[in-house]
Amino acid sequence: MRADLAGCERCALRERRRSIVFGVGNGEADVMFVGEAPGADEDRRGEPFVGKAGRLLDKILAAAGFSRSEVYITNIVKCRPPGNRDPRPDEVFACNPFLLRQIEIVRPKIICALGRFAAQTLLKTHDGIGRVRGRWYDWNEDVKLICTYHPSACLRNVDYKKPVWNDFRMLRDEYRKIRPA
Ligand code: SF4
Repeated sequence: MRADLAGCERCALRERRRSIVFGVGNGEADVMFVGEAPGADEDRRGEPFVGKAGRLLDKILAAAGFSRSEVYITNIVKCRPPGNRDPRPDEVFACNPFLLRQIEIVRPKIICALGRFAAQTLLKTHDGIGRVRGRWYDWNEDVKLICTYHPSACLRNVDYKKPVWNDFRMLRDEYRKIRPA
């Protein structure tokens, strides 16, 4: 799949990217995290969630008992939107087949959507993240989905930290049903 993605020109985000930020972690993970889009650090290093938001995600993962190598982490779009603008609907649409294929290959049992774009894309809804977070959805018959705030939103607003922690506790409890400690 990486080879298929190399040199992708399906949307305008191709123009200013340095790297296609594919995904990282355990290719057979039971839990997959899906964020929004690569930022400047991710674009430079070719890896998702390596900047400030990534460091916060690592801390939340560790507090919930996960290591980065135990889970799989990717984004809705694989190339950095210029100036960290929001990805546009046509860009999300263009990149969606790659995300769906990643899910097909990794076959997680749980997906956690981080932030509005991931939640709206995976749930096919226009509802805001505050409305959809904090509960379980059957994404399909084999995969459960939970949504929470993006770590970068927690960096901007500390009020999000508590609901995020509650969502991660739900996630961990569900994961422990699949893989008891
Ligand atoms: S964001 Fe996705 S669809 Fe657009 S150029 Fe990058 S890899 Fe291709």
